[in-house]
Amino acid sequence: MNTENEPRALVAGNWKMNGLSHNVAEARALTEGLDEAGCDCMLCPPAPLLPLFATALEGSPVALGGQDCHPEASGAHTGDISAEMLADVGCEAVIVGHSERRADHGESDEVVYAKAQAANRAALTAIICIGETQDQRDAGETLAVITRQLDGSVPEGVGGDDTVIAYEPVWAIGTGRTPMPYEIAEVHGVIRGWLVERLGEEGESIRILYGGSVKPSNARELMAIKHVNGALVGGASLKAQDFLGIIAAYK
Ligand code: PEP
Repeated sequence: MNTENEPRALVAGNWKMNGLSHNVAEARALTEGLDEAGCDCMLCPPAPLLPLFATALEGSPVALGGQDCHPEASGAHTGDISAEMLADVGCEAVIVGHSERRADHGESDEVVYAKAQAANRAALTAIICIGETQDQRDAGETLAVITRQLDGSVPEGVGGDDTVIAYEPVWAIGTGRTPMPYEIAEVHGVIRGWLVERLGEEGESIRILYGGSVKPSNARELMAIKHVNGALVGGASLKAQDFLGIIAAYK
């Protein structure tokens, strides 16, 4: 749970490439009973569903987020979406550098840095994802990888109002496996230390989410780890009951 001086938690759901227009009912179900939530809540549906979600979530405490954005504001980039477009349909945030985009689309830290800057240019919070692969963990490289990704992906001068870091071990995403609590605590401690070293006091206000196989049954334990300020949730965010079960860890 939030310890003293830690920012208010955020639980964000990433629907990835899942959902059709009829699934918006699930988003509406999600808003029920959330007025009392002990954390901020957000849903990031696929881009075509954003306007429908914006309507469904109106007046609820659930914010809307995008899953990716192009570094530029507009131009000849077929199939891409700008941060300004996301803001225009009601998004408050956008995920950048998710490991699936790093792997499927070859996104480098440099690209992620530019996307995070684009998000902030459009007054969106950038949720910057970092995390090691299984091979990197096995080779004892986790902390070096995390630090390298922070160095390369986090723009200068950011703060708690415009940036969130999501630590997502690639091997924990969608696998049902999670690191041991002490392993998560170690990485989150290194991330907090990096943020404070780079940004001073402002680094204390940046939320550090854990992501990777978070579900109702493990949320309480994971969210209680030091410097874990919420969760980025994939699969379990698709069902209102599961997502609400995770949010309940903050009750
Ligand atoms: C994710 O992809 O951001 C994620 C955390 O997925 P899952 O919760 O399904 O592991």
